[in-house]
Amino acid sequence: MGRIVQLPDDLSNKIAAGEVVERPASVIKELLENSIDAGSKRIKIELEEAGLRSIKVVDDGEGIAPDDTERAFFRHATSKILDEYELFRVKTLGFRGEALASIAAVSQLTLRTSTGEEAGTEIVVHGGEIKEKQASTKRRGTEILVENLFFNTPARLKYLKTIHTELGHITDIINRMAMSHPTIRFECVHNGKRMFLTPGDGELLHVIQQIYGRSVAQNMYKLSEDSLDYNVEGYISKPELTRANRNYISLIVNGRFIKNPVINRAILDGYHTFLPIGRYPLVVLQIEMDPYLVDVNVHPAKTEVRFSKEKELFNIIKDAVYQLLHGQRLIPSGQKKE
Ligand code: ADP
Ligand code: MG
Repeated sequence: MGRIVQLPDDLSNKIAAGEVVERPASVIKELLENSIDAGSKRIKIELEEAGLRSIKVVDDGEGIAPDDTERAFFRHATSKILDEYELFRVKTLGFRGEALASIAAVSQLTLRTSTGEEAGTEIVVHGGEIKEKQASTKRRGTEILVENLFFNTPARLKYLKTIHTELGHITDIINRMAMSHPTIRFECVHNGKRMFLTPGDGELLHVIQQIYGRSVAQNMYKLSEDSLDYNVEGYISKPELTRANRNYISLIVNGRFIKNPVINRAILDGYHTFLPIGRYPLVVLQIEMDPYLVDVNVHPAKTEVRFSKEKELFNIIKDAVYQLLHGQRLIPSGQKKE
């Protein structure tokens, strides 16, 4: 008698949720990615108690057709890729088809959505189980309310930190999303109080000002570099404007916020002697490339990527930063790093 069993869907969704949904901020990240992929121009986030009580994301994107609303909660169900060819050329933020299934498995979720062409749908899912489905308004867009996150996974619930800490993680995510998409107007309201609003006018510098303040925005150089494979646009701080750690270096590849030590190094090498020892610049770079040159399927959270021509990209960024700073006739700080 064999002992191996195929786990039921609700259990495998809960297991996957452990990876995708770590805390309220990860729910917000996934919901914002979906709203962005849906072509939204305005996205509003409403939170109660740093998302521990509730998270609501409202967008004006393309919505989900009535026939698709239940399928959206199936694991590995996605409208974003069809085959392997598309996986290696993915242009959307999502493609794994895991987020809604995972979030719904560990919360009480209400989805209201419409394509604007026909009556919309409202669907209620508790712990992965569909409880209700009915027609709703026709207004184009999607609204997802996530309540009582981790109500059925007590260990995860216990692991959550204070409201203050969770709100810190959330702010981080919203800042990144806003920097990655200056054409979208992001608004965030926490416990009834507005804490974040971007104009959505397409100007990255306006988003930088909203996040870091006016004096930072006034002390940035605009960087713009075009090569055969890459287009790099963004802002780098004047050498006198520095921070004590690298957390102020933001990298965006094809609209996706990523972490990458090699590009960080290229930027720091580009500053070379301009930075005092132990200080780091404030940088926001948007790098556009053929999706085929970057593998985004490295980790479920999708912040790690691999570049196929890493050395070339390294040199382009290092040289662009170096040239920009040297073109400004600055006086090096005189201290060499490392
Ligand atoms: P993925 O984003 O990887 O495709 P998700 O589980 O996050 O997987 O979402 C499943 C599907 O539900 C998406 O492919 C999309 O078709 C639909 N969807 C989710 N959120 C939205 C939204 N805000 N607007 C329009 N469609 C959405
Ligand atoms: Mg998604």
